[in-house]
Amino acid sequence: VNRLLENEQDLPCVTPDGHALPLLVNTGLATELMAALKTRIAGVGLYRTEVPFMTTERFPGEQEQTTLYREQLAGFAPLPVVMRTLDIGGDKDLPYFPIDETNPFLGWRGIRVTLDHPEVLMVQLRAMLRASQGLGNLRILLPMITSIDEVDTTLRLIERAQRELNEDGITVERPRIGVMLEVPATLYQLPALAERVDFFSVGSNDLTQYLLAVDRNNPRVAGLYDACHPAVLTALARASREAAALEMPIAVCGELAGDPAGALLLMGMGFDALSMNTPNLPRVRAAIRRVSLANARALVDEVLQLTTCSEVWQHLEARLAEWQ
Ligand code: PEP
Ligand code: MG
Repeated sequence: VNRLLENEQDLPCVTPDGHALPLLVNTGLATELMAALKTRIAGVGLYRTEVPFMTTERFPGEQEQTTLYREQLAGFAPLPVVMRTLDIGGDKDLPYFPIDETNPFLGWRGIRVTLDHPEVLMVQLRAMLRASQGLGNLRILLPMITSIDEVDTTLRLIERAQRELNEDGITVERPRIGVMLEVPATLYQLPALAERVDFFSVGSNDLTQYLLAVDRNNPRVAGLYDACHPAVLTALARASREAAALEMPIAVCGELAGDPAGALLLMGMGFDALSMNTPNLPRVRAAIRRVSLANARALVDEVLQLTTCSEVWQHLEARLAEWQ
């Protein structure tokens, strides 16, 4: 089966009724597969910058980061590369920057950490902008945004980084900037967010964890963690609809996007693009090439009528089996 799917990898990701859905990849380390991948994807939907930071012994300096980011940006150019600012805290700790909290997922995470340490964020922003020189494919994504103030402060820092570089004679453009929708509060402020940034990307892993109040890494409650919980699906469907009304591009970069059934649902809900770990590409592409947009939309309508996770999964499995 895998070989069969592998053969489809160079075919376009288009449904039988002609709807093209851009598939992107989540990356963290420089990948040697860039050249092979490039022809099969629409870009990098999530570059987790904390991953390379985990392999160093201290915060990498501006030059070091510039080299790292340049490799990604140049490697995938002209395709877009969405670089997320440092997202540590929660489950992700740096050996040289330990964070010890009793409730880490509700604590000092993502943008909260970097706004408290603007010196760390500024080095990263300057490095991203420098690395993007002459390429035009950099997008910057902000993790763990909870409030509009955080967006405004970060936008000012990005402007400052750009201004500083320009004063140094390094001309860089303002990249497109996006916000992760992963804290439920953001779903209730989409218009205010849309006035400030250029795109949304749903972090379905954290959004699920926070909507359901279930620690995504705690085995004791793992059975309660389900991105297909009817409440999560309802939230996703509404976010997608509202983003469309605001004319804001909206993608999903959490694990749900890399699951064939999840991907079909997200396509049916109207998401513009899906970003996933590379190994999930073949199965997701195959599912989309076999199911029409009309059927995926009908599937969403059916599933949104259901009231429990097990009903949702049973229904998804039955439909998928039918469509194979
Ligand atoms: C998410 O939360 O869904 C996400 C993509 O980010 P991470 O898994 O790195 O928290
Ligand atoms: Mg997240």
